Amino acid sequence: MDCVFCKIVNNELPSYKVYEDDLVLAFLDLNPVSLGHTLIIPKKHYQNIFDIENKVLKRIAKVSKIIASKLKENLDDVSGVNIFQSNGKTAEQVVMHYHMHIIPRRKQDNFRINDCLKSLKLEHNQFKDILNKIKV
Ligand SMILES: [Zn+2]
Repeated sequence: MDCVFCKIVNNELPSYKVYEDDLVLAFLDLNPVSLGHTLIIPKKHYQNIFDIENKVLKRIAKVSKIIASKLKENLDDVSGVNIFQSNGKTAEQVVMHYHMHIIPRRKQDNFRINDCLKSLKLEHNQFKDILNKIKV
């Protein structure tokens, strides 16, 4: 399979490894939006949230906390962290191997996540309709 993240897992491509265990690998993003931008990936190839196993997802969540804390404690001026990941081409997922972004934030950085989160104005019936379809 021609997957850049699988190649990193298999050491066929170099990476700046931050963390590694039996299930997951974390390494510095080579196209960082801020200093310290880290990716956490499963070692096994899963495309995204729709096919990843819960056991692996739990480990990624745990490791995200470890790395977020490291970034905040050890990098200059980091006072916040964004954590996100994309699922599917519609959601602008580019590398089709599950990955979670850990992005350290500094007060004067140029990364503005709220610019992407402009809200829709919905009526009560629209909320109710959606709820009827997705409530678990
Ligand atoms: Zn892969």
